[in-house]
Amino acid sequence: MAARDFTSELVGSFSEGSNGNPTVAMIEAAFRHHGLNWRYINCEVPPERLADAVKGARAMGWRGFNLSIPHKVAVIEHLDGLGESAAIMGAVNCAVNRDGKLIGENTDGKGFLKSLMEVVDPKGKAIVMFGAGGAARAIGVELALAGARSLIIVNRSAARAEPLVKLLNEKTKTPATGVVWPKHYRVPDGTDIVVNATSIGLGNGNEPLDVELSSLKPGMVVADVIVDPPDTRFLRDARARGCTVIDGLGMLVNQGVIGVKYWTGLDVDPAAMRAELERIFGA
Ligand code: NDP
Repeated sequence: MAARDFTSELVGSFSEGSNGNPTVAMIEAAFRHHGLNWRYINCEVPPERLADAVKGARAMGWRGFNLSIPHKVAVIEHLDGLGESAAIMGAVNCAVNRDGKLIGENTDGKGFLKSLMEVVDPKGKAIVMFGAGGAARAIGVELALAGARSLIIVNRSAARAEPLVKLLNEKTKTPATGVVWPKHYRVPDGTDIVVNATSIGLGNGNEPLDVELSSLKPGMVVADVIVDPPDTRFLRDARARGCTVIDGLGMLVNQGVIGVKYWTGLDVDPAAMRAELERIFGA
């Protein structure tokens, strides 16, 4: 008979607005599915308590934790080191306890990349990405590190696009250009992959992206980061044009898979995690 163990391994998340974050449901579904004596605890942490939260996690031997808004940059000074892409992005969404040291990783872009790789390898591909916020920064860096041929960043404000374009050009080998989003943006001929990394469509499955739909061509892969609802207007429009589409749930699930691998060393079943999210979002 297996020995009883009344102490769970602990991981979790520190953020503000934690009650709107579904990651806990997805990760706990994986722990249940694999019979792991691990718990993921969603914690509401205001900025002035972040240092104490990290100290608390260290004191209790947490195996790691996710960081969400507004802690992704602020947490860095409380950690012991950074992984490669987190260092380039200057943002951490996943801390990992490695031999007692808390190392900051960024699974946002890695989750997106894993989801994309199930359909197409971005190596050598021409990519257009809408958005220049936190998600876009993480995705842009991972696409560049994966060997994208070129990246066009289309964003409403130049103020956010410019630093991202500069970072990609200075810290990766992929040439990036910025475009201030014009009316009815035309995706250039020869584009292989189009990504919506803006928050357009969040909470409103009918909100369109201002893109000339005739410039979306069959054969293009079109991905969206939005999870609620996952079937966005942009993806429906792209599907109708004959594009292959990828929804935001894949990115979220794969971030979870990568985070759990970092913490536990185990490969968990993405299907169990996706099923839980689909149940929650009615997908
Ligand atoms: P940010 O606030 O950092 O960035 C938002 C981006 O959306 C900016 O580029 C902003 O442009 C653009 N934007 C917002 N509204 C409009 C609009 N009406 N017209 C044009 N552009 C607009 O957010 P994040 O990058 O952190 O998150 C973006 C989305 O990604 C969110 O919906 C989030 O839920 C989702 N996400 C999904 C994940 C997943 O696993 N699937 C993981 C992380 C995020 P501007 O700079 O001009 O303001």
